[in-house]
Amino acid sequence: MSIRVRSLEVIKTCAVSPHLKRITLCGDDLADFPIDAESGYVKALFHPQGIPVVDADSAKGAVKRSYTVRAFRAATRELDIDFVLHGDFGPASTWATSAGIGDTLAIAGPGPTKLADAKADWFAFFGDLSALPAISVNLQRLPEDALGFAFLEVPSADDCVDLVKPAGMQIEWIVNVNPMAYSGELFQRLETLAWLAGAPYIWIAGEFELMRSARKKLKPLKSEVQGTYVSSYWKIGATQEGLQKAKALEEVKSRLGMS
Ligand SMILES: Cc1cc2nc3c(=O)[nH]c(=O)nc-3n(C[C@H](O)[C@H](O)[C@H](O)COP(=O)(O)OP(=O)(O)OC[C@H]3O[C@@H](n4cnc5c(N)ncnc54)[C@H](O)[C@@H]3O)c2cc1C
Repeated sequence: MSIRVRSLEVIKTCAVSPHLKRITLCGDDLADFPIDAESGYVKALFHPQGIPVVDADSAKGAVKRSYTVRAFRAATRELDIDFVLHGDFGPASTWATSAGIGDTLAIAGPGPTKLADAKADWFAFFGDLSALPAISVNLQRLPEDALGFAFLEVPSADDCVDLVKPAGMQIEWIVNVNPMAYSGELFQRLETLAWLAGAPYIWIAGEFELMRSARKKLKPLKSEVQGTYVSSYWKIGATQEGLQKAKALEEVKSRLGMS
């Protein structure tokens, strides 16, 4: 079955922080884009050399890269995506680094939203810069009286940005100047998490190793939490295709009780 491809044009760019670039895409193909997709993801399509796909005809052989719907304004058909400028030669990051007004990009999707269940007693978020867009949407949408923590690992102190959040959500920024070396800091915060009263929703996304350790840690805590989202968004030294293979292997190992 062929995928639905939406052809969009860049109408605005801005630096959210030194390593995070917001690209606003617009186009008539967003006319039927769902209004409740924020925190979900789209697949941006590229040819392996980093050349963006512009329409369905040029989508053959394209690679797909997942990006969170940071914001969508239906009235003006504008979609904001925040790209990490990781500098490691991926087609998506390379394109985003130089993308400017008038450039084109094709996307597929969106997929399901990644929102914490607002009925939880309290909340704990863990993520790096790739997860900051999804965590930002989550924090914005939590009930006003929500309690809990967000631990965010970023590559420089200047990447610690202001976040819209309930007063009871405490933020801790962790700086890891070399994201290509797994720091283990986010997992350490999970290990030492100050447990509040009631059942939390625990939301974790970032590098592959964080996902793997976090799943092991949370497995025996199933009955004590209201819900979890644990996902790897990228893997050190692997393209997104490599990440998908590693995730599939991890699933098999987990089913066989080997991890
Ligand atoms: C559901 C979901 C939502 C996501 N949302 C976002 C989002 O909103 N914004 C965003 O920027 N990313 C997001 N990601 C992560 C993004 O899809 C990956 O980072 C992707 O690999 C980037 O593609 P690329 O073409 O730049 O690099 P690839 O070709 O996939 O990889 C090339 C090299 O870059 C390295 N690399 C890839 N990503 C990073 C990174 N974040 N930091 C450091 N090195 C990296 C790899 O280790 C590899 O060595 C999301 C992923 C998922 C699964």
